[in-house]
Amino acid sequence: MNASDMPKNPYLLLTPGPLTTTASVKWAMMQDWCTWDDDYKQIVQDIRSELVSLATSQSGYTAVLMQGSGTFGVESVLTSAVPQNGKLLVLANGVYGRRMVHIARKAGIRCCVSDSGETKPPDLDRLKSMLTIEPSISHVAVVHCETTTGMLNPILEIGNIVNAFRKVFIVDAMSSFGGIPLDMAQIHADYLISSANKCIQGVPGFSFIIAREDELRETRDRAKSLSLDLFDQWEAMENDHGKWRFTSPTHVVRAFAQALAELKEEGGIEARYHRYAKNQLLLVSGMKALGFQPLLPEPLHSPIITAFRYPNHPGFDFGLFYRLLKQRGFVIYPGKVTDIDTFRIGSIGDVHEQDISRLLQAVERSMYWRVGIPGGWEQGLSKHRYNERVWI
Ligand SMILES: *Cc1c(COP(=O)(O)O)cnc(C)c1O
Repeated sequence: MNASDMPKNPYLLLTPGPLTTTASVKWAMMQDWCTWDDDYKQIVQDIRSELVSLATSQSGYTAVLMQGSGTFGVESVLTSAVPQNGKLLVLANGVYGRRMVHIARKAGIRCCVSDSGETKPPDLDRLKSMLTIEPSISHVAVVHCETTTGMLNPILEIGNIVNAFRKVFIVDAMSSFGGIPLDMAQIHADYLISSANKCIQGVPGFSFIIAREDELRETRDRAKSLSLDLFDQWEAMENDHGKWRFTSPTHVVRAFAQALAELKEEGGIEARYHRYAKNQLLLVSGMKALGFQPLLPEPLHSPIITAFRYPNHPGFDFGLFYRLLKQRGFVIYPGKVTDIDTFRIGSIGDVHEQDISRLLQAVERSMYWRVGIPGGWEQGLSKHRYNERVWI
């Protein structure tokens, strides 16, 4: 098999992970590696140090790779970091914030939550008063980019408050790390969690945690799980120079190393951020021109993913819209907001302005409203142009 034989993608993924990866990232998986051989372990060590340097310019930080999807990484941190006598405060405004609460409850970690609702940023005054009233809170966790809506939470302001109260700060930067510039020392984050298949543009298979080393060292024997024990995983990687405790996703790791090299080639996080931001601006202006409204006001938006309200037309059918877009080569994401009907379109991955332009054309052609006749559909906004009616 040659690189030119590689099957073509059936569609462009406009979802926030797994996302569209380059052919060269996929190609990097075409070799088998031994999980404990020195050459492979060196790749792991290089990845770990590269992740630390992407996360901060300060020293005293370390990186741990953990098998599983992003949620495994979050679960690993929460169940390894919060001690028996500690208490976790989660600032939630979407599915991923609430998932942290769920993880804590399952693991029997004492936990409280400040939920500002899916369309509002965290309430910083409430955070201060909760930390004042409840001194047993030891850890505060928040999602950076809440992928539910695309909202970018103010982690710098939150980090300053958490630091003023001397609490441990955990940031789920799953869908932002590598795509939005940040320095974890500046935001006072003790733990930053992300995964292989988001903005670094690797394939799914492991998550990673960048941690303040002094804080991580405090957590020996705290973990409530063997396989997700963050300290033990870190200690094994440190002492055995890149060795994972259990079978590692070798092909995925190799692809991730390639993805990191391509991030560098692109010009680093800053350049990638600009590409994503351009994609997102083009997407929003184009969708607005077609009559779609974003769920959030512009200032709350991230360049990562955008939630759109269903069009204000009783005949809109998301299932049909999705299928027509897929036939035209694009996969978008259903919504996850509780009270409002939405769908989401991601702007991350190996996705460029010309892809967004093609998507907007496909969206225009896929806007069919259900009409009175059973099984009848009529072209939406542009019906004066297309004047099409189909029976499905
Ligand atoms: C993707 C994502 C996760 C992890 O989800 P998995 O399906 O376990 O990979 C967690 N938090 C956020 C904000 C995410 O975007």
